[in-house]
Amino acid sequence: MDETKLATVETFTFRHEAEIVRARLEAGGVIAMVQADDEGGMNPGFFADYGVRVVVNEDDIVEARDILELGADQAQDAPDRDALIDSALAVSLHPEHIAAFRAHADFVAPEECCGLLAFDRPGRVRFVYCLTNIDASRHRFTVDPTEHFRANQHAERYSWEIAGTFHSHPGGSPEPSQTDIESAGDSAWVHVVMSHDPAEKWRIRAFVIDRGAASELAVRVTDVGSLTGHEGRNDSGGSAP
Ligand SMILES: [Zn+2]
Repeated sequence: MDETKLATVETFTFRHEAEIVRARLEAGGVIAMVQADDEGGMNPGFFADYGVRVVVNEDDIVEARDILELGADQAQDAPDRDALIDSALAVSLHPEHIAAFRAHADFVAPEECCGLLAFDRPGRVRFVYCLTNIDASRHRFTVDPTEHFRANQHAERYSWEIAGTFHSHPGGSPEPSQTDIESAGDSAWVHVVMSHDPAEKWRIRAFVIDRGAASELAVRVTDVGSLTGHEGRNDSGGSAP
């Protein structure tokens, strides 16, 4: 490829997302490369691999975008979350959600941490619930049922839908385990799995699990409309200010 005529198709936070897009482009007949941003990007130091770009030959950029629009962009207009996940193969997270995942995983290690994900629109995580793993195990997790119930009540107040989990594999693989696959439940749910990696700290991947098979979703990082904190008054039971 002529380096002077490259065009950026899309920029990602995580290399594996870029690799998924590169593979999709190559499946569509467009040669693509993954390039890491050595300039630190807009948030230097926040992500170890911030600013991973998928680039193609300038002459292929229109075709590349056409190939990708058959997936992610078209699906963003779809109102149905199941349809979005099926066709877009993407889930959107705010950087604070990722920070919350990693902090909870660190806190609970060497046991698996767990929690629930609330969505405010198809494919977009709005709130992360860091909850108790009542198994207190390094190899499996069960979300505390009382906390699960409280999370449902909280999400209902904001018209969010709880439709996903996250958990960590402190010593394990970056893939859903056989136990994860067998206990996945609703096939539309998003399962975020974090594996401990000496280089990346906690590597974050997302999957849907349907009929005994896990399919990976791209993780998109967005700064639009997503916060881990409560928006309204603190509702933890204390007296009003
Ligand atoms: Zn697992």
